[in-house]
Amino acid sequence: MKEITINDKKFAVSIPESYILGEVKKLAERISHDLEGKNPLFLGVLNGSFMFAADLFRDITIPAQISFVKLASYEGMASTGVIKEVMGLSESVAGRCIVIVEDIIDSGRTMQRLLENLGTREPSEIHICTLLLKPDNLKVDLNVEYVALQIPNEFIVGYGLDYDGWGRNTRDIYTVVE
Ligand code: 5GP
Ligand code: MG
Repeated sequence: MKEITINDKKFAVSIPESYILGEVKKLAERISHDLEGKNPLFLGVLNGSFMFAADLFRDITIPAQISFVKLASYEGMASTGVIKEVMGLSESVAGRCIVIVEDIIDSGRTMQRLLENLGTREPSEIHICTLLLKPDNLKVDLNVEYVALQIPNEFIVGYGLDYDGWGRNTRDIYTVVE
């Protein structure tokens, strides 16, 4: 099994590129079918979702737009999901069908805060789309409609996801090994 080392940790391939891309394509087909006629605005959440968003969006077959936002967390509280602000949103969300595109939903708190924030901007509807979901770790009540891959409660990197800012530039997804 292919292994890589990032800083102090070893990782092994857990989800190969071919499988990821197959699931992403199926998800894009579902979304294209469900949201036909709604001219959705996809909102990718930076940094982690950039690779997923690019692959997903290429497989969307209905008229759609895409933009990206970045979430600024309070200093030292990133893991609690407390968001200071949603940065970079220049498009008008009012009246639009929004698809939030995340890399991973763990506790769900980050997504919950983002939903609260976007909700005040009066979109017509908001759909949640994530590359990865750790269902055993979900702490809040979220309707996660579009999930490419469900994973166990283990730390993963690659395909856009990082460990301390490193490891985003792999085609496969890796899981930390002891
Ligand atoms: P939540 O607010 O849902 O608990 O956490 C979501 C955020 O935690 C993600 O956007 C991501 O930054 C980080 N995260 C959670 N699990 C993992 C993981 O397994 N790998 C990486 N790289 N980040 C993770
Ligand atoms: Mg994220």
